[in-house]
Amino acid sequence: MPLRRDKKPKPLGVCTVCRDYTDEHIRMNHRCVQVHRGRRCSGVYRSSLTVVWIECPTCHGTGSVGSQKCGECAGWGWLLHSMR
Ligand SMILES: [Zn+2]
Ligand SMILES: [Zn+2]
Repeated sequence: MPLRRDKKPKPLGVCTVCRDYTDEHIRMNHRCVQVHRGRRCSGVYRSSLTVVWIECPTCHGTGSVGSQKCGECAGWGWLLHSMR
């Protein structure tokens, strides 16, 4: 029997440029930490309350498939549908 996993909470913030997710309060409204082609992303993490999320169809919001991290949502359990 597979282990029944709980759904993950939605990410706390989303980068306005690269749509990186964060769940750390300290990063909110601060510069994105991602580096793209050697340049730091110019985006800022904004509250994900303005984001429409869809539950990841691959892992059903749990962030993992079997014992593996879900590749579809990178383990978050949620996919960004649209930003308002
Ligand atoms: Zn970014
Ligand atoms: Zn997933």
